[in-house]
Amino acid sequence: MIKNIVIVGGGTAGWMTAAALSRHLPEQCNVRLIESDQIATVGVGEATIPVIRTFNAGLGIDEQEFMRETNATFKLGIRFQNWGEIGEDYYHAFGYYGFPINDVSFHHYWMKMQKHPDTAPIHEYNMPYMASVYDKFEHKQFNNDSIDSRYFYAFQFDATLYAQYLRKWSEAKGVTRIEGKVTQVSQNNDTGFIESVTLESGECIEGELFIDCSGFRALLIEQTLKVGYKDWSHWLPVNRAWAVSTSYENNNTPIPPYTRARALTAGWQWRIPLQNRTGDGNVFCEQFLSEDKALDQLLENIEGKPINEPRLLKFNTGKRKKLWDKNCVAIGLSAGFLEPLESTSIALIQGAILLFIKNFPNKDFAPATENEFNRRMDIKYEESRNFLILHYHMTRRNDSEFWDYCRTMKIPEELQHRINIFRHRGHIAHKDSDLFIEHSWLEVLFGQGEKPGSYDPRVDTVEPQEVRRLLAEMKMDVARAAKAMPTHNETLARYCAGDLISNRNSK
Ligand SMILES: Cc1cc2nc3c(=O)[nH]c(=O)nc-3n(C[C@H](O)[C@H](O)[C@H](O)COP(=O)(O)OP(=O)(O)OC[C@H]3O[C@@H](n4cnc5c(N)ncnc54)[C@H](O)[C@@H]3O)c2cc1C
Repeated sequence: MIKNIVIVGGGTAGWMTAAALSRHLPEQCNVRLIESDQIATVGVGEATIPVIRTFNAGLGIDEQEFMRETNATFKLGIRFQNWGEIGEDYYHAFGYYGFPINDVSFHHYWMKMQKHPDTAPIHEYNMPYMASVYDKFEHKQFNNDSIDSRYFYAFQFDATLYAQYLRKWSEAKGVTRIEGKVTQVSQNNDTGFIESVTLESGECIEGELFIDCSGFRALLIEQTLKVGYKDWSHWLPVNRAWAVSTSYENNNTPIPPYTRARALTAGWQWRIPLQNRTGDGNVFCEQFLSEDKALDQLLENIEGKPINEPRLLKFNTGKRKKLWDKNCVAIGLSAGFLEPLESTSIALIQGAILLFIKNFPNKDFAPATENEFNRRMDIKYEESRNFLILHYHMTRRNDSEFWDYCRTMKIPEELQHRINIFRHRGHIAHKDSDLFIEHSWLEVLFGQGEKPGSYDPRVDTVEPQEVRRLLAEMKMDVARAAKAMPTHNETLARYCAGDLISNRNSK
């Protein structure tokens, strides 16, 4: 058993890793985390997807306390504006359309009946969508049998506060934090394994296993081990982001229970509502829009007043060829980066940590475990990447060179296969390993204006009158439940008001 683990980096990735290792590994494992006050964390990363709740629950974190301490809000999905066409608006909401009928997904019946005057747009059968449009949120556990509880939720939080929260949590579990800048990495001459890192102060820290959470610097996995990078920017060309925080207009401003992603001329702009402020950013491709113009675009499109100086971040979408090499594993931005459209980064961090713990090596570092981890992480990144490409490629926009490029680019074969399968009869060629459930794919495909040629043939075995009745009932139940929900502001004030929201009046 390996006992001496060194984590380099104390951003979200570093502290999530430290917390999980101290929770899930036996007590004799000694976990030390090195971070440098001289090197800032990336400072963004505020929107998450529902799997984060599994991570927090695995640590035994109290949700109310965590939300209070990180100024968190609830997230029911992402609102996409101007993606299919300028003026269009759809939600990737974390829940299901209606109920299946005779084991066939709801959307097949909807496709058959969509032209009937009583049939509503498909999202009106979706609980988290209806709650989102009214800025409502009710804190419910998922229940598959009840149409008003067939949804999941995630959080929007201050990622810096989340790392601080996990630091406190990890230190209480015995993790040692070491302040200092790593200036040198020593490897074994024969094996290339990392033996120690040296800090600016001269202190040398030895370890058996090193986890690289050093962010875009990738100090160990790339600067030292040089594993190489798979660049995916030909499919996901955005490579810059301006980020800024803004204030709410006043204490009564409704806090939306969703993240907004508004497509612009060469990328898109995020708006992530926290309890006390929003996070805003323009993600763009520098080859199609200059940095100065992108900053103007961001400031034109924000709603409140900026409360800090906008910051420019640079990245290239892709991943390391290997996340685990020798006795080093990269987790977080050091491992790779998929642009933030679907809030996948923290979920990939969580996925990597849990998969690594499951395949935790012994001192012999058997190659099979390394290979298995790398194989599964390749799949996770590639599937998430394909989901992102879908949003860009399925556009009908032709108002800029950027959208022309995205609409006409050649996409990965596996994604093309999924699109073809959907076009045929509205099925999703889904895999168990997917980060997103089948419905997420459906919502984006429908949302971007894609229309299958036909539907599941089993639909025709149910009387159309019966289908109409069921559809009407589901729509009414969803609308009634959404209306009865408290507003998101009310739920936050009652459940988890942080310092700043406690003075707010609810909507
Ligand atoms: C524009 C943008 C928007 C994003 N939005 C989202 C989002 O909405 N949702 C989401 O899930 N993710 C998002 N992400 C990704 C998310 O921010 C990161 O995945 C997450 O914060 C993890 O970062 P990290 O810990 O890997 O790196 P960092 O936060 O950069 O931390 C690196 C750490 O390494 C330390 N370090 C570096 N070099 C040294 C050294 N030599 N010695 C000692 N310490 C060192 C630093 O001090 C720091 O503690 C976004 C990213 C970007 C760029």
